Amino acid sequence: MRLYVAGKDDTFDIIAKHYHLSIERLHMANPQLPVRQANLSGRIIRIPSMDTPVFEQSPFSCPPSEPKPYLDHWIPLTPLAKMAETEYDILIIGSGIGGGAALWRLCEHWMHAGKRIGIVEKGGLLLQTHSWNVPTLNNDRAGRLFANPAVSNPIGWTLPSFSGAREVYSLGGRTQFWGLVSPRIQSHEMKDWPVSHEEMTRYYNIAEGVMNVTDAYSKDSSLTRELLDRLWQNGFTEAEGSPMAIDVDPTKYGEIHSAAAFSSINFFAKALNLAPFDLAVNAYATRIVTQEGKVAGVEVSNPAKQAFYLRAKTVIVAASSLQAPRLLLHSGIPGRAIGHYLTNNSFVVTNGTIRTSHLPEVLGTLAVLVPSTARRPYQVQIQGPGPYYWYHDTAKELQEEWGFNFFGGFGTVESRFENNVFLDPSWRDEYGVPNIGVNFSYSHKDNAIIEQMKADIPLIAEAAGIQLTGPSDRPDLCLLPPGSDLHEFGTCRMGNDPLTSATNRYGQIHGISGLYAAGNCVLPSIGAANPTLTAAAMAIRTVDHIVQSMD
Ligand SMILES: Cc1cc2nc3c(=O)[nH]c(=O)nc-3n(C[C@H](O)[C@H](O)[C@H](O)COP(=O)(O)OP(=O)(O)OC[C@H]3O[C@@H](n4cnc5c(N)ncnc54)[C@H](O)[C@@H]3O)c2cc1C
Repeated sequence: MRLYVAGKDDTFDIIAKHYHLSIERLHMANPQLPVRQANLSGRIIRIPSMDTPVFEQSPFSCPPSEPKPYLDHWIPLTPLAKMAETEYDILIIGSGIGGGAALWRLCEHWMHAGKRIGIVEKGGLLLQTHSWNVPTLNNDRAGRLFANPAVSNPIGWTLPSFSGAREVYSLGGRTQFWGLVSPRIQSHEMKDWPVSHEEMTRYYNIAEGVMNVTDAYSKDSSLTRELLDRLWQNGFTEAEGSPMAIDVDPTKYGEIHSAAAFSSINFFAKALNLAPFDLAVNAYATRIVTQEGKVAGVEVSNPAKQAFYLRAKTVIVAASSLQAPRLLLHSGIPGRAIGHYLTNNSFVVTNGTIRTSHLPEVLGTLAVLVPSTARRPYQVQIQGPGPYYWYHDTAKELQEEWGFNFFGGFGTVESRFENNVFLDPSWRDEYGVPNIGVNFSYSHKDNAIIEQMKADIPLIAEAAGIQLTGPSDRPDLCLLPPGSDLHEFGTCRMGNDPLTSATNRYGQIHGISGLYAAGNCVLPSIGAANPTLTAAAMAIRTVDHIVQSMD
């Protein structure tokens, strides 16, 4: 028995002839369909093989059910050719934190609204979930997978002044590998934001709820408690258990909690249960089309380089801080600030050891965050023990002394116009889109903060009882190249003044109706904090604004 999806003109007669079957035999295999039905288009037909006896129906037989339309992948996909037939109320470009958060919020708002939502992602289906949730990927193997240039594009290799940058082109973007650390931005670091602290608090609450941000991952660990005690005693009173986007609820009563580490794919999962949307992967947005100051659609190509035009009333560009300005600039979208104000965190790493012989036998997880303050414009993260910050199935040896999974500092960097992403028309990708160049340097102030980290991190280590050693191939403490923090932001920054910002306070590109940006690229400043939670909060806020303004 095989299944056949009836074409536009198919009838029982045609299908029976094609498969050399009698109409009666075909009908016995498909009794749910009336024989004389003229148009079977799209229906799934059971084709009995010549030598398989068709089960004789008896009055006691269960009525046959119509086969369900089946899925080709673990997430429903829509071909670009089909998407080209629709005019979308909203089309999202990119499926990282900005695209995922926007999609989820839209589906929540438009549960029964009958609106048409589309999303296109340049990459394919790499992993179904965050790499931490994949049982075959332990700390080492996940790191090695991420290091593969076919998995994360080392775009920094062609950007000498931003050489540490890497991007992930696949459903979920970089959230498939991110470290989950999700602090809020300190209020003193938001003074130039066009959004009030109160309003951000509301959106942080929403984003933390949906992303399961909690300190519970390391809360009752003796190692975390001990380090926090020592830091507090020695004056680092702001030190806290790291807030992380991880679902610590156990699977129970049939509800599965297997995707513990949060990725943007969790947003897709939630969205699927709320409202219909069309998703195309391997769908590269190459140009945004505008007409008379209003967005009209997006040109999208598949890997065979077939181009499709997707019509949309509203477009949200959530294609990362390097790719969003590339797309906007290539599309001729005007704006003095587009691509400018590229900002990151300066990134200093070290390593060390800590004696644990006096601690209770069960150490638990170490996840400590020393947030920035007005006097200390950098953040320090300490994670461990050793490679057991997260792991699957390995025996955890008893040891008296432990190293760390990560120990480093992120410094605040000034947002400056002269640090920018620009189009380099001298070389183009295989779709004819110009590649990017980057101008980037640290200011005097940035360098002073790097020096301060260099001087202070040994003091923080001493306060925590950590002996600094540095990784085996590096000095005790060293600065990684710009871009290595993977926190780049600001290239479509929000603001009120079109001279110094690319979007208005809601993420709408100045002067282009219906065109929005989301993700790290819209953040005007982050201080020393990791950006992803804030990018999600802002994308949710942008969608709330779009939906309200459409009502
Ligand atoms: C190993 C690692 C650890 C990290 N740890 C942390 C952490 O602990 N905390 C934290 O806050 N942040 C962390 N980050 C950074 C975090 O992952 C990023 O801040 C965040 O994911 C950026 O989201 P984004 O949506 O702006 O961009 P991306 O994640 O880069 O997503 C952009 C998406 O758009 C797609 N795209 C690009 N161009 C196009 C186009 N033209 N057409 C269609 N699609 C397109 C891309 O394929 C991609 O899927 C970490 C990152 C890595 C890699």
